[in-house]
Amino acid sequence: MDGTKLTAQYAICTFSLGVLQNDDVWFDPPLPAWKAEAIYSMTMGTYTKIFLQFHQKFWFDTQFALYADSERGRYPVWQGLDIDGFLPGSGVVFATVTGDYSKRIEAMTDAQVQSEVMEVLRAMFPNVTVPEPTAFLFPRWFSDPLYRGSFSTWPASFVPQHRINLRAPIGRLWFSGEAMSEKYFGYLHGAYFEGEATGKQIVGCIKGQQCNPQPPILGIQNTYPYGV
Ligand SMILES: Cc1cc2nc3c(=O)[nH]c(=O)nc-3n(C[C@H](O)[C@H](O)[C@H](O)COP(=O)(O)OP(=O)(O)OC[C@H]3O[C@@H](n4cnc5c(N)ncnc54)[C@H](O)[C@@H]3O)c2cc1C
Repeated sequence: MDGTKLTAQYAICTFSLGVLQNDDVWFDPPLPAWKAEAIYSMTMGTYTKIFLQFHQKFWFDTQFALYADSERGRYPVWQGLDIDGFLPGSGVVFATVTGDYSKRIEAMTDAQVQSEVMEVLRAMFPNVTVPEPTAFLFPRWFSDPLYRGSFSTWPASFVPQHRINLRAPIGRLWFSGEAMSEKYFGYLHGAYFEGEATGKQIVGCIKGQQCNPQPPILGIQNTYPYGV
């Protein structure tokens, strides 16, 4: 941002798939077509937790509760944190929305979202006088330029060779992170194992030992089996 230039023998790019799919970060020279195609072959999902804090708990004693609405995706999953093993006495409960519903509420103000969530909560507990929360918070993962979503997913049309190309280095620029994982894409352990594997491979290259990065597959066809 301030024009500082860093030089290194190797670099590892671990931006999320969502960041790579947006124009928050520019590569010079531009990424080759096989890499760009891989980046756009996957989709970034959004998973939004909406937290509310009250003076005291008035809800369910289980970890989870489900709310059914005629509108698909309208604040369906609820989790209480004011429970043994989590944050007893906290007065915190949260709702989860995903996908298009996440994008919808990210475009709204906090006050608008709070109003909708309170409407649902009051519908869930018609015999309770539900007060306004003392605190309200939800992260906008989709709009956040450092994330642009929560985790990668494979669309129905996904061709697995694209994952190999997403991961394949360009010269000494390597790519790592959850989206590159064949078995655990979308998950923290996918990011962990991928980071570990990339780090070890680069150490091998730096030490002049084994240095055999997987080359990209050019001319991808949909004939490659899922091998896990
Ligand atoms: C709400 C939510 C719930 C989740 N639940 C689970 C779960 O239950 N279990 C699970 O296993 N996983 C879960 N995940 C997914 C998990 O968090 C991700 O898979 C994991 O964080 C991916 O790690 P990563 O290192 O690949 O990418 P990231 O965590 O996205 O790390 C990329 C890093 O790059 C940085 N960055 C981006 N752009 C720039 C830039 N321009 N300049 C400098 N730095 C930049 C970011 O700040 C970030 O630190 C959840 C994610 C979310 C959002």
